Amino acid sequence: MSDEANPFESLQSQIDDAAAYLDIGDDVIERLKHPERVLETNLTIERDDGNLERFEAFRSQFNGDRGPYKGGIRYHPQVSRDEVKALSGWMTYKTAIVDIPLGGGKGGIVIDPDDYSEAELERLTRSFAKELRPLIGEDRDVPAPDVNTGQREMNWIKDTYENLENTTEPGVITGKALDSGGSEGRVEATGRSTVIAAREAFDYLDKDLEGATVAVQGYGNAGWIAAKLIDEMGATVVAVSDSSGGIYNADGFDPVAAKEYKNETGSVVGFAGSEAELTNDDVLTLDVDLLIPAALENAIDADLAEAVEADVISEAANGPLTPAADEVLEGKDVFVVPDILANAGGVTVSYFEWVQNRQRFYWDEERVNEELEAIIVDAFDALVETYERHDLENPRTAAYVVAIQRVADAFEEAGSWP
Ligand code: NAD
Repeated sequence: MSDEANPFESLQSQIDDAAAYLDIGDDVIERLKHPERVLETNLTIERDDGNLERFEAFRSQFNGDRGPYKGGIRYHPQVSRDEVKALSGWMTYKTAIVDIPLGGGKGGIVIDPDDYSEAELERLTRSFAKELRPLIGEDRDVPAPDVNTGQREMNWIKDTYENLENTTEPGVITGKALDSGGSEGRVEATGRSTVIAAREAFDYLDKDLEGATVAVQGYGNAGWIAAKLIDEMGATVVAVSDSSGGIYNADGFDPVAAKEYKNETGSVVGFAGSEAELTNDDVLTLDVDLLIPAALENAIDADLAEAVEADVISEAANGPLTPAADEVLEGKDVFVVPDILANAGGVTVSYFEWVQNRQRFYWDEERVNEELEAIIVDAFDALVETYERHDLENPRTAAYVVAIQRVADAFEEAGSWP
């Protein structure tokens, strides 16, 4: 993490940049820059040694004009009220750019889960689910996984909610295991949309993805799947990193073998297929055709952006560029596919999961991937159409112009109340 840009201020400045191209009143824009409500709660659970410990937790419901609030729950020491608010705003514009009938929300607990046992994490997650219960529901607010949470936590939340409500309502949460009502293709969805978006960008820029060199920062769910799929598309993954550092091989890695190594040892560092070790900053500034930041926000600040050599960036992570970095990259003609489109595969397949839960009818993986492909390609086309129509310098602004217009339309068509 290279600088301390406040993510909520980053979100608001992105909205301001786009508002300049929209015929929407300042009063409506003001509404669209703030969450509708934020739950801030303290969870106290019993540790395995019998002592009690208190944790701060948040859920921000940013905007529900287009449908139920939707967004993940993150477990990380850096979780803060402002981070959760920003992430919930990005979810609002993400569901809008891909045009699925959902709003935006996000939650988090301030914790490093590595320091806790599975039983402690279960108690904590169930305690959070109890606090969330009055706010969530398949027609109200539908949480999902994010950093350091996955199927296990989603299953606990669903089970707690269903027990307290005395119902079966799998659509209260997405990202569940298949046997608990999850969807085929959900685990791969974020990485998949990141590479579909990159492929569309290469196509738009008349660049060849076959043989293109790729660096991936962050080798978790989003990053490693993106590496695997872009390799399958014929690109060469020359560098990857995780929180322990990065590895490099000019001839490319086998992304699956690198992942297996990380599963065994906890990191990609030390992987036998590597010819050199790199720092995370080295990975982000490597001379590659495509850079995929897939770790956390603010990975690239203005100083680091000066050193970025990639031609295209597809943002798997949420908010990996500070606004100042965005400006620098714009000046260097780097084409940035913004997070709200590039990583929207996760929420799109979450939407498919929710649809399947409500219909109690499940699709095969092929159908999930086909429907996802169509949605991401349509969203990219809408971005490009706006990018060209307004002669914009930055694809991110184009994405926000499309998305904000859709949210504002839904709000204005409904009228304000009371
Ligand atoms: P994850 O916990 O599975 O993986 C995160 C990875 O980032 C890990 O490999 C970790 O080692 C690495 N990392 C952490 N700090 C780092 C640093 N300073 N430098 C390099 N690597 C670092 O999380 P994830 O689900 O893959 O999420 C990654 C990003 O993608 C987040 O910004 C998240 O909000 C975003 N995202 C995820 C999904 C999803 O469905 N998983 C959907 C949309 C967006």
